[in-house]
Amino acid sequence: MKQRKVPLRKCVACQEMMPKKQLIRVVKTPEDEVLIDLTGKKSGRGAYLCGKEACFRLAQKNRSLDRALKSQVKPEIYEQLAQDFIKAEDEFLAARDSAEDE
Ligand SMILES: [Zn+2]
Repeated sequence: MKQRKVPLRKCVACQEMMPKKQLIRVVKTPEDEVLIDLTGKKSGRGAYLCGKEACFRLAQKNRSLDRALKSQVKPEIYEQLAQDFIKAEDEFLAARDSAEDE
């Protein structure tokens, strides 16, 4: 039996290796903006987080995103990301569930 290779990425908060599809990508653009990238196609340095608010909060607490993105992420950016993250979480989970049969 052949096993299908799934690209794995590490969540910067809990350090768990997960299939890329199950992670939310946070990207620092060349313009130095830090945003959530649901398409996974934005250019820039990326960091991955499980699609869970808890993991985002952990990253916020430990400043894991700062390290992963190699730049200082301002508290207000974290707050903005938190808002977006909660919104994205629903979309993300819905998309993931509907993509499961592919
Ligand atoms: Zn995680």
